[in-house]
Amino acid sequence: MSDAAKQLSRVGIKPSHQRLRILEWLASTRSHPSAEAVYQALLPQMPTLSRTTVYNTLALFVERGVAQPVYLDAVQTRYDGDARPHGHFRCRGCGRVIDVELPAAPPAPPRGYAADRVMVGFVGLCPACRRAPQAG
Ligand SMILES: [Zn+2]
Ligand SMILES: [Zn+2]
Repeated sequence: MSDAAKQLSRVGIKPSHQRLRILEWLASTRSHPSAEAVYQALLPQMPTLSRTTVYNTLALFVERGVAQPVYLDAVQTRYDGDARPHGHFRCRGCGRVIDVELPAAPPAPPRGYAADRVMVGFVGLCPACRRAPQAG
């Protein structure tokens, strides 16, 4: 069994061919793609893939902790195959999302509340976009 298949089986997800391909591709990129970007990347090799399958699979991965969502864009959720806790920075110039290390003691929830996930996000400009004249 491949690592991806083991990873899915461990959280109770049946490792179908399409799910494995989606997980492997998601784990191979640090681009934090949107569901649409995952679909567009895999379509050439998987002509029978549907958008619905990609959306449902990504939602399942998030629910089972195989992937994490990045909510830094009002229009589209991005996805990360690295489910370990870390923060993100989204550049509003070029749209890039990069990983940000969290401090050893991340912000704690209010007393009595149990958090499933800590999301730390920054939005701003990356070094290249800060140097470039603003377009539009
Ligand atoms: Zn940028
Ligand atoms: Zn990330």
